[in-house]
This record gives sequence, C-alpha cells and structure tokens, in this order.
Amino acid sequence: MNCLEERILKDGIVKEGNVLKVDSFLNHQMDITLFDEMGKEWKKRFEGKNITKILTIEASGIGIACVVAQHFGVPVVFAKKAKSINLEGEMYTAEVESFTHKNKNQVIVSKKFLQENDRVLLIDDFLANGCALLGLIQIVQAAGATVEGIAIAIEKGFQSGGRIIRNLGYQLESLAIVEEMNCQTGEIVFRKQ
Ligand code: 5GP
Repeated sequence: MNCLEERILKDGIVKEGNVLKVDSFLNHQMDITLFDEMGKEWKKRFEGKNITKILTIEASGIGIACVVAQHFGVPVVFAKKAKSINLEGEMYTAEVESFTHKNKNQVIVSKKFLQENDRVLLIDDFLANGCALLGLIQIVQAAGATVEGIAIAIEKGFQSGGRIIRNLGYQLESLAIVEEMNCQTGEIVFRKQ
C-alpha cells in the first residue's frame, strides 16, 4: 500500500453519492509532504517522457500540480472556470460538467500558454466520470499539442472515467484506485496495482 492509500484509509470520509472527502490533506487543507511523494512517484512512472508543461483544472488540481511540477521542472497552467462569454480567439475553451456540483462550466486556457510543440502532463485530484479530463484533452488537442500522460491522485474505479481514458490510449497513472467504498460502514477497498 502506498502513502496516499494509507492516508485515504486514515483520513478519507465516504459520503453519499459516491463522493470521497479528502479535504483534510488533498483539496482544502493540503499536505505538501504527501504531494512531494506523489510527485516522486509520477516522475518514476513517466520516466523517459519529455514533458514540457503540466495542465490542471481550477481549483483543486492546482496545489498538487504546483508541487509535482518541481519534479518535472516545467511550468503549470490551469484551466480557469469562466462565465460563458465569447472568448473564442484568444482562448481555448471546453465545457466541463462538475461531478461534485453537477453544474456545467466553461473552462478556458489562454492560447499564449499552450503551443503546438508542448508535450503535456494532465494532473487532477480525482477521476470519476472523466468529464474534467476530456475537457482538458480537448483543449490540448485544440492547441495542436500532445498529451504525454495523465496523473490522477484518486481514481474511483467503479465509475466510468478510467475505462474511457484508457480506451482512448492514454497512459493514465492513478496513485490510488478505489474499487469499492461504502458510506454506511466507511469501508474503502483499493484495486491492487
Ligand atoms: P469527473 O470529471 O472525472 O467526473 O470528476 C472529476 C472532478 O470532480 C475532479 O476534478 C474533482 O474535483 C471532482 N470529484 C470527483 N469525484 C470526487 C470525489 O469523490 N471527491 C471529491 N472531493 N471530488 C471529486
């Protein structure tokens, strides 16, 4: 069991609606030492990939991405959630449905910060149904850049995102894959990796 899985068992709380709450160490209060360990592990898993940029999505991916970026020595860009104004021209845009809030957001990245020759590592805290990642992939493709890999802290393996993303052929590295979780008992079971 890796340190993220151990921490989830210690401090994660299973909520109704297939939501795992990890706000004491991952996406509200943030354990930077843990993020640094995650960065080391992803650096190993993406060995040999010539990554030039990390792309994440506002808000909870940003903290993780910034610490992890120190292991890759590349800049972090985050897709911003924006009001639906006409941003075509200077921005790449994608529509992303929020798993936790159930609303749709337009996310934007300035054309200045993604180039055709960029080899991008996508990072996010969770993978559920894959909407956030598919939005980020769409933005990278619009820039003519390449998705080199995808780094997810916690994949919920019982939801469809992981299968969709792997079927598209991407190297998806999730540090913890939750196979089952029960909001009555609080039990969490991980997929063996
Ligand atoms: P997806 O787009 O893959 O359906 O959901 C991923 C996004 O929803 C992530 O960016 C994450 O912020 C949020 N999310 C999905 N599942 C969970 C969860 O169980 N707990 C928390 N805290 N956030 C989640």
